[in-house]
Amino acid sequence: MYDLVVIGAGPGGYEAALEAAKLGMKTAVVENREVGGTCLNRGCVPAKALLHAAELYRNVQNGERFGIISTDVACDYEKINFYKEEASKTLREGIEHLLKANKVDLIRGTGIIVGSGKIKVTRDKKTEDIDAEKILIAAGSKPASLPIPGIDIPDIMTSDDMFRMEQIPKKLVIIGGGVIGVEFAMVFSSFGTKVTIAEAEKSILPGMDSDISKNLKILLKKRGVEIHTDTFVQKIEKKDQGFLCSYLEKSKKGDKTGEIETPYLLLAAGRTPNTDGLFNEGVTPETKRGRILVNQEFETSLPGVYAIGDVTGGTMLAHVASAQGVCAVELMNKKEPSIDLAVVPSCVYTDPEIACVGITEQEAKEKGIDAFSGKALTHSNCKSVITKEERGFAKIVIDRETDYVIGAQIMCARATDMIGEMGTAIANHMTVKQLMRAMRAHPTYNELIGEALKISAEAQVDRN
Ligand code: FAD
Repeated sequence: MYDLVVIGAGPGGYEAALEAAKLGMKTAVVENREVGGTCLNRGCVPAKALLHAAELYRNVQNGERFGIISTDVACDYEKINFYKEEASKTLREGIEHLLKANKVDLIRGTGIIVGSGKIKVTRDKKTEDIDAEKILIAAGSKPASLPIPGIDIPDIMTSDDMFRMEQIPKKLVIIGGGVIGVEFAMVFSSFGTKVTIAEAEKSILPGMDSDISKNLKILLKKRGVEIHTDTFVQKIEKKDQGFLCSYLEKSKKGDKTGEIETPYLLLAAGRTPNTDGLFNEGVTPETKRGRILVNQEFETSLPGVYAIGDVTGGTMLAHVASAQGVCAVELMNKKEPSIDLAVVPSCVYTDPEIACVGITEQEAKEKGIDAFSGKALTHSNCKSVITKEERGFAKIVIDRETDYVIGAQIMCARATDMIGEMGTAIANHMTVKQLMRAMRAHPTYNELIGEALKISAEAQVDRN
């Protein structure tokens, strides 16, 4: 009898299991694929490995700006794939080691919840019954589809399939200009693929600060990516050499229809919770549009059955799943949650990188908060000038009444590493004045944050 059985060994599941073991719970994790879940095997890690290889390739090709002349630069995609797989493998082995070291049993197979405290694990037609005082579902998500005629044609790819590609495509059409779509656009445009993005919303990266979407659109276009926003793919047909997509592009000047032919088509329309085969008939917890509903303590409508991460919908990010996993286990053990789940950094690993945390100035206004922002541009940041970075900025949003930092949007090299400082500031209700007390090393991209804080402080003084 276990104290806790976790279903799914992704970042939510394995972090929860490790935390439970540390708190003295006899714990097991059930996993039917590779340890590490989507993140390590079909998400964050392989995507960032491809992005890293793509950035290196671009930098070597453009080295002349720095006096580095390289001829015959080529990329060997088989070797890039090998490097990507190695990165996932190393991290996977690390997690398996951690689970073992913390005495968490790793049970290979598919977990089915038979009732509160009862799980059936099936593997190779064998079944094992497991009892647990508590069950935590961390079954993740899967690529979402769209109601487009022809969307079920085999060979239309999802992000899962992209990681299995054996060669660099000559042409790629991506339906969806969200984070996954733009990251793949960045990778393959760098490797020489002619990439087209079709996005139904008014901008790529919808939901992000408009300065970010606008700047990224300009940069991607400069790299040869064709971007159609306000564009609805209406039909997909199979062609000998691939697919024919018919679309409607809306514009103030008048709507127009068009067709794009492509050998490779990626559907990057977000993700949907994965509850396939998780529950025996009659023991399904309450769900809403596929996501498992939970209360403040992550408990589902089935007593003793909890859920965290992508399977609960919400912000589908690895660190959110991990943080929820840790907090859920803390709450099970009557402890205060140690992480502020409301402060969520979100990052896009394009070049330059994009990172946001807290709220935008626009969102603050919509919430009735009297907010203002300070924005510093990279063209006056020493490190950005040295490394010839492209257009970028750091914007910090401040609550005028309290002087608290309530949001930050950064677009520059290493933005994804810089955003941590802003998350710390927001989670701990730090003021601009407090943040300005810390020196920032020179020359660093981080000085951009210092500059944006200075601009904010001056704006506050001017107003007063
Ligand atoms: P998952 O990681 O999906 O893990 C769930 C696990 O449960 C899986 O291993 C699955 O096989 C297993 N499972 C499911 N059902 C059962 C069952 N019945 N029995 C046994 N096992 C089961 N997030 C970021 O934060 N940063 C990024 O840069 C980032 N990049 C991404 C890039 C791509 C291309 C994609 C697709 C996603 C990316 N994400 C990123 C999102 C991130 O991968 C997910 O948010 C994260 O993996 C969710 O963690 P999880 O633990 O909830 O689920």
